Amino acid sequence: MLATAFPVSVSPIPTDIVGAIAQLKKDLNAVILAHYYQEADIQDVADYIGDSLGLSRQAAQTPADVIVFAGVHFMAETAKILNPDKLVLLPDLEAGCSLADSCPADQFAQFKAAHPEHLVISYINCTAEIKALSDIICTSSNAVSIVEQLPPEQGIIFAPDRNLGRYVMAQTGREMVLWQGSCIVHETFSERRIIELKAAYPEADVIAHPECEEPVLRHAQFIGSTTALLHHTQTSDRQVFIVATEPGIIHQMQRQNPHKVYVPAPPSNRACNCNECPFMRLNTLEKLYLCMKNQQPAIEIAPEIRAAALKPIQRMLEMSA
Ligand code: SF4
Repeated sequence: MLATAFPVSVSPIPTDIVGAIAQLKKDLNAVILAHYYQEADIQDVADYIGDSLGLSRQAAQTPADVIVFAGVHFMAETAKILNPDKLVLLPDLEAGCSLADSCPADQFAQFKAAHPEHLVISYINCTAEIKALSDIICTSSNAVSIVEQLPPEQGIIFAPDRNLGRYVMAQTGREMVLWQGSCIVHETFSERRIIELKAAYPEADVIAHPECEEPVLRHAQFIGSTTALLHHTQTSDRQVFIVATEPGIIHQMQRQNPHKVYVPAPPSNRACNCNECPFMRLNTLEKLYLCMKNQQPAIEIAPEIRAAALKPIQRMLEMSA
């Protein structure tokens, strides 16, 4: 992956930063795509807020000339893979992902070579290089459905998230070979603290993202992608929810159902904010403004990697149409 450097900008931050971002959006014919895990002030200036599947669909369809991606690096890379001729901006190039980092391309190529008859399904939370080594990309919204569409005798490698892989195996009854990667945020929730919270809020539903570990998922009344969790809080009769995923999603839950109560599942270490994604939180409204003003940092991908990574993303979009 190639990326332009982020020079120190001398642009002052305007007092009306929200107005300035709106003006830049018009000037650049830009669209702002934001993940649910972004800070509330970033979500509030976005044209579209969603999870990885929704954001990929938006990136594939947008008529805008410039895509400003308020999320982490692999998400902006996916937008660039889908839009090679457009300028794709990421407010902070250091906004990476522990899950993507847990699957280095050289080691994964060896792992894949050891299972030559297997099809590779990779969760979208991976680098462009891993996508280029994959047959189909999936998200937490469509992973189960994609596996169910494959012939039962087809061997499958699932990468990089072992927890999502285990969850998909349980839902489909399919054996898969799992790459042992994980997300530092979703592995921070402890079963013991979820049990404590359930005792404190006996009327609550525990809702969890499938990137959480199995002992946490065991206590959940509902498991799903961030979009599915949001939808569940809208449609359920329950009034209280213990939310076991990155707490940025709670902003949209509160906007859509302000009278309900959302309790973020705490990290196992009471002294840290480890349930907040440190990579997502690197993006700020100021950096969002500056990246639009300076039109950098921009995402660049080597053409051969981009071409190879595009096919499994297109296959995902076709299989989840
Ligand atoms: S929450 Fe986990 S999987 Fe999502 S971007 Fe952060 S580190 Fe990656």
